[in-house]
Amino acid sequence: MGTSIFTEMTELARSTGAVNLGQGVPELPSPGALLKDVAEAVTSGSNQYPPAVGFPALREAVAAHQLRRYGLDYRPQGEVLITTGATEALASAVLALCDPGDEIIAFDPCYDAYAADARLAGARLVAVPLALDGADFVLDVDALRRAVSPRTRVLILNTPHNPTGKVFTADELAVIADVCTQHSLTVITDEVYEHLVYGDARHLTIASLPGMRERTLTISSAGKTFNVTGWKVGWICGPRPLVAAAGAAKQFLTYASGTPYQEALARALDTVDAWAGDLRGVLTRNRDLLSDGLTRAGLLPFHADAGYFLQADVRPWGYADGVEFCRDLPERAGVVAIPTSAFYVSADAPAWLVRFSFCKREESLRMAVDQLIKAQ
Ligand code: PMP
Ligand code: GLN
Repeated sequence: MGTSIFTEMTELARSTGAVNLGQGVPELPSPGALLKDVAEAVTSGSNQYPPAVGFPALREAVAAHQLRRYGLDYRPQGEVLITTGATEALASAVLALCDPGDEIIAFDPCYDAYAADARLAGARLVAVPLALDGADFVLDVDALRRAVSPRTRVLILNTPHNPTGKVFTADELAVIADVCTQHSLTVITDEVYEHLVYGDARHLTIASLPGMRERTLTISSAGKTFNVTGWKVGWICGPRPLVAAAGAAKQFLTYASGTPYQEALARALDTVDAWAGDLRGVLTRNRDLLSDGLTRAGLLPFHADAGYFLQADVRPWGYADGVEFCRDLPERAGVVAIPTSAFYVSADAPAWLVRFSFCKREESLRMAVDQLIKAQ
């Protein structure tokens, strides 16, 4: 496994002093009460291993969150597992569910951990490209049906989606659910951006579709919701046998982590709805500022209904290849972005797509936009 694109591009931003619109690392504040609660937990001595399955109050808060938001009822004991970020949740789930030679379906472009996790398990990631439709990415139903083979074991879904900002629609989820029930596939759904959905778009969770709860592991994390990506507290909800299998693998990845964070997050999750409403307001303004700025800089941004990122077609600047564009960009405009080809498993990626992140301070975005406009 090579160096991750996030490491490479963040290092490029550091060494050149460019504005970092590459890695999705937020420059935004976190809830004050949450920070205070962590400090208090640390100083009052909550510093030893938590239970391997996670601190009970956080498992209860996660279960209450799923019931309140999605009408999904999970037992805090046995159907909720706290993990070291969504990253460990994904690795545990894939290692638990896949044997060497199995196939995993994911939609291309996809988060880079999916292919790496497949490799760790000796499985093969079969990528189904999302189709480009104007400024949107849409499910290619025929390609999905063609991708299923007798070796397919798991489908990894990510909605809201990184890197595109796509929110899978009710119709798309219904088709995916149909394919998964027809072929007895287990779904791992990565929903770390579940609270960061803008405008009229609505996040739907596939576990709530008929026949899906029993075959779905739903993963989320505190990192994006509370702007605490360095804390690495995530979770999995699902039926008892699948959660137990992921928990068995998880024991030998980290065993457990983050006691004071887990303790404080249990309280924060109970009041997440008010916090997330404000954060969505900030991120909506940021998305619009960046999208408008990219257009004024002569690039062609796509729609993003959610998450941290915007895609742009960089061909109007004379680049057929986003990697070349991103290599030149720090020098040319003092900005770092990430070539979207880094998120494609299949060879036929649209090479001219580049990902820009907008989870930044307004002044960083304004500076980046001004510099891009001057550099065009
Ligand atoms: N999945 C997706 C789609 C992500 O964007 C991220 C954020 N890097 C992760 C998983 C990892 O989340 P965490 O930081 O909680 O491990
Ligand atoms: N999720 C973030 C991104 O996509 C950061 C990932 C990472 O640093 N591993 O940019």
